[in-house]
Amino acid sequence: MKVAIIGIGLIGGSAAKDLRSAGFCTDITGVGRSAKNCALALELGLVDRIVSKEDAITEADLIILTVPVNILIDELLFILDRISPHQVVTDMGSTKGAIIDAIKDHPNRRQYVASHPMAGTENSGPAAAIDGLFRNKVCIICDKENSDSNAVELVERMYHTLGMRLKYMDAHQHDMHAAYISHISHISSFVLAATVLEKEKDEEAILEMAGGGFESTVRLAKSSPDMWAPIFHQNKQYLLEVMDTYIEKMYHFRNLINKNKTEELRQFMADANEIRKILK
Ligand code: NAP
Repeated sequence: MKVAIIGIGLIGGSAAKDLRSAGFCTDITGVGRSAKNCALALELGLVDRIVSKEDAITEADLIILTVPVNILIDELLFILDRISPHQVVTDMGSTKGAIIDAIKDHPNRRQYVASHPMAGTENSGPAAAIDGLFRNKVCIICDKENSDSNAVELVERMYHTLGMRLKYMDAHQHDMHAAYISHISHISSFVLAATVLEKEKDEEAILEMAGGGFESTVRLAKSSPDMWAPIFHQNKQYLLEVMDTYIEKMYHFRNLINKNKTEELRQFMADANEIRKILK
C-alpha cells in the first residue's frame, strides 16, 4: 500500500505517523508548500520522500488531502482529473458541503470518499504531528453512497487503523453539526481572547492571573487563522445561525446580571450544567 499525503501538517503528519507504525502502508510520500516544512516533515520521519504533486498522484494507491479547506477543492479537482481507476482519494477537511458540491459531477467522483476525523489540537505544521491523535475519536464519512464500495472500504480500514469510530451522514448535516460542536467553540475562544487582550493591555497581569479556567477556555484561540478562516467562510450558512443563538444567549445572560435576577441566572447555569450528562 502506497500512501500520498498532500499537506503535511498537524493532521496529515499525525495520520502518517500512526499509519506507518500500524503497518497500514509500506511507502508514504508527502507534498508540501514551504521547502522548510517539507524538510522538517522528512527530518521528523513523517514521510519517506517529498515528491511533486504529479508524482504523488501517479505513485499512490491512496491519496489523502490534508490542506486548508479553501485550497482543498482545487487540489481535489486536480487529483480527480488525473487518477487511474484503481486509485482512491480522501480528504480530512473540516467542512464537507462546499467540497462535495464542487466535485459532484466529476466523472471520477466515485473514487473519492469525503471524511472528517474529529480530532485536533491548537497547533499546526509538521512539528505539531503527534502519535495517537485520532485514537478513540469519531470520524464522519459523508455521502458514502456516492463513492465506490471498494473506495469506502479502504478509507474505513484506514480510519479503523487510526483507532477511530465511524459515523455516517450527509455533507450538509455534517456541516450543521460541525458548526455547533466544533466551529462555534473556536469562534467563542477567538473572541474571548480578543476581548481580554483589548481590556488587559498589561500582559503581565494576564499571565499572573491566568488560572486553569481562562487557559482552557482560550486554548483554541491559539489555532491557525490560515486554517480556520476558510472553514468559517465555507460553513457560513450554519455558523451564522448558531452565532445568532449564541449572541442572543450572551445578551440574555448580560441582562440577568444587569437586572440582578439572581434566581434566573442560577437556573440558566443549572440548565447549562446538563452538559455533564453528555460530556462526563
Ligand atoms: P496545518 O497543520 O496548518 O497543515 C496544513 C498543511 O498544508 C501545512 O503543512 C501546509 O504547508 C500545507 N499546505 C498549505 N497549502 C498547501 C498547498 N497549496 N499545497 C500543499 N500543501 C499545502 O493544518 P491542519 O490542522 O493539519 O489541517 C489540515 C486539514 O485538516 C484542514 O483541511 C482542516 O480543516 C482539517 N482538520 C483540522 C483539524 C484541527 O483541529 N486542526 C481537525 C480535523 C480536520 P506549510 O506548512 O508549508 O504551510
